[in-house]
Amino acid sequence: MKKLKQKVSNRSSDDSHSYGGQYVPETLFPALNEVQAAFDSIKSDSVFQAELHELLCNFVGRPTPLYFAKNMSLELGHDIYLKREDLNHTGAHKINNAVGQALMAKKMGKTRIIAETGAGQHGVATATACALLNLECVVYMGEEDMRRQALNVYRMKLLGATVVGVSNGSRTLKDAVTEAIRDWMSNLGNTFYLIGSIVGPAPHPEIVEYFQSIIGREAKEQLKNRINVLPDIAVACVGGGSNAIGLFHDFIDDKSVELIAVEAAGKGLDTNEHSASLTKGTPGILHGSYSYLLQSETGQVGIAHSISAGLDYPGVGPALSILKDAGRLTSTAVTDDAALKACYWASKTEGLIPALETAHAFAWLKETAPTLPGKKVILLNVSGRGDKDMQTLMENSDILFGDA
Ligand SMILES: *Cc1c(COP(=O)(O)O)cnc(C)c1O
Repeated sequence: MKKLKQKVSNRSSDDSHSYGGQYVPETLFPALNEVQAAFDSIKSDSVFQAELHELLCNFVGRPTPLYFAKNMSLELGHDIYLKREDLNHTGAHKINNAVGQALMAKKMGKTRIIAETGAGQHGVATATACALLNLECVVYMGEEDMRRQALNVYRMKLLGATVVGVSNGSRTLKDAVTEAIRDWMSNLGNTFYLIGSIVGPAPHPEIVEYFQSIIGREAKEQLKNRINVLPDIAVACVGGGSNAIGLFHDFIDDKSVELIAVEAAGKGLDTNEHSASLTKGTPGILHGSYSYLLQSETGQVGIAHSISAGLDYPGVGPALSILKDAGRLTSTAVTDDAALKACYWASKTEGLIPALETAHAFAWLKETAPTLPGKKVILLNVSGRGDKDMQTLMENSDILFGDA
């Protein structure tokens, strides 16, 4: 852990150059190097790329539509385009990464895939990819999340995966990641850790970004073909940051495009119950990587809260931390209540029920768009659909239908 001390002592001088890294026990270094080598080789492997393309088109259902939301546009006075990742097989962007990494693991000769999951979306996507590619699948999930997302637990089992309940800590996503890393360390030979967001030790965040960047690449092309402009604003919700960086990746060098990351303010940014690590966190180490996170002054990792399980994580990917410090990205946050109301608003206005995670981006749109001058072209990533959230929505009907 020599590297760790060195980097931490540098942190006040120049944080942005040290985000990411590999803050893990040395026993994991050979495995990370093996993953890095595989990642380097698949990028220029035409057979791999052709297989991936085939799966993305004919199994996942890509390209996803870019939909001009005319009712929202009329109401808000801007041109709103929605990138419909909710229309992917399994209902969210997670499958882009799961299929890509599972295919990569297969090329590496791995036979066993492990994953962590919060809401169960990444677990379902991974179990799906493993069924497709004939790989053994073990998913770690906090017991609290298993209770909240019983349907997804059942889906994973139906897809042939083993779901292992985690009873440590807050029994949620953070603890599931910790357990998955522990499993990986004791099964390095045959096992591949298929991480679900742009978090974890290098090169994992970069791999996830690579497989998710198809979102923005497609959207950019679709917008060009349609109205031949770049968006003025690209906006996405942020848990670990994979759908956001997937949308942003191809626009980073287009300086005219404003990038907006919407985090979960939970019960309010002035409470201890939120997941706004970019907006309210400080740089530190979580799950092998140095990035913004929620922590106490002594470095204890905070407990995140969000009504949407997919945003309920106390850290965020290093790529977004770098963009934030560079002033390239603006982070903001909306509360549970605002997300619930926006979920109803989006559903009744455009006829699509978004995931509660995505509803955070819609809440930003609904609140902020009316205050923007002129007529903007706004590109919003619909990271997933809301079917998985029906129970939560029903339990919160009073807020949802309150004064939306
Ligand atoms: C998991 C999930 C998220 C949050 O994860 P990111 O890595 O930040 O994208 C957002 N939306 C949906 C629908 C999800 O399933």
